[in-house]
Amino acid sequence: EPLLKIEDLTFSYNQGEKILSGVNLHISKGEIVALLGNNGAGKSTLSKAITGIVKGEGRIFLNNTPIDKWSIRKRGEKIGYVMQNPNHMLTQETLLEEVEFGLKIRKIKNSRERAEKALSTCGLHRYRNWPISALSYGQKKRLSIAAILSLDPEILILDEPTAGQDHKHYLEFMEFIKEIAAEGVGILLITHDMHLALEYADRAVVLSKGEVIADREVSSILGDRDIMERANLKETSLST
Ligand code: ADP
Ligand code: MG
Ligand code: MG
Repeated sequence: EPLLKIEDLTFSYNQGEKILSGVNLHISKGEIVALLGNNGAGKSTLSKAITGIVKGEGRIFLNNTPIDKWSIRKRGEKIGYVMQNPNHMLTQETLLEEVEFGLKIRKIKNSRERAEKALSTCGLHRYRNWPISALSYGQKKRLSIAAILSLDPEILILDEPTAGQDHKHYLEFMEFIKEIAAEGVGILLITHDMHLALEYADRAVVLSKGEVIADREVSSILGDRDIMERANLKETSLST
């Protein structure tokens, strides 16, 4: 049984046209699933439907339990969502304060210890007392992931995680994501980058105009001109 299962999810903003249409998607423990599709395909909207930020029609299960009635807060305990722009997620002064903040508002015990551990995991421990403003974009991205990881999610949704990172950090970062998956976390990796998906994802789900047009191994999508064209996917890497 998959960790996360989405069945027949349909959504529109304000009774407008369908942004998501009958979407099915599943992620197992330890699996990295790429979510591919061109700009406007509905990738971020799907993330928002999973995390409860928007409410669609259909069913979403976590470990076989329907979560459709769960609040954003309750979903957030199990499903971590790292937005595309880390600046939208970071609100505190220092790195340690940032990670501890999320733990404290949830009244999670040993917040200091857990925050320090998450910062270590993300290679940021030595900067723990630095002001966040001193970090590079890539480091801010890792900090936003540390803040989410400290909450121990079962599912991690990463929206364009490698955008804006240089090649070295991109590789480091993806190796790190692989380690997180190896510990059993299910990962939804949103990207435009076929190269990234090929290298790191176990499977890819392709969205086009809110519909899933493929759900299979990345290499077989790369060889499918129809799917590649419909989703406006390029064989070349965009992020590096
Ligand atoms: P992607 O992440 O794949 O680029 P989005 O999920 O951001 O796509 O957007 C899918 C579609 O939904 C686009 O046509 C976009 O214009 C529309 N959309 C996104 N957010 C809103 C919103 N808040 N209100 C109305 N339409 C929106
Ligand atoms: Mg977009
Ligand atoms: Mg998006």
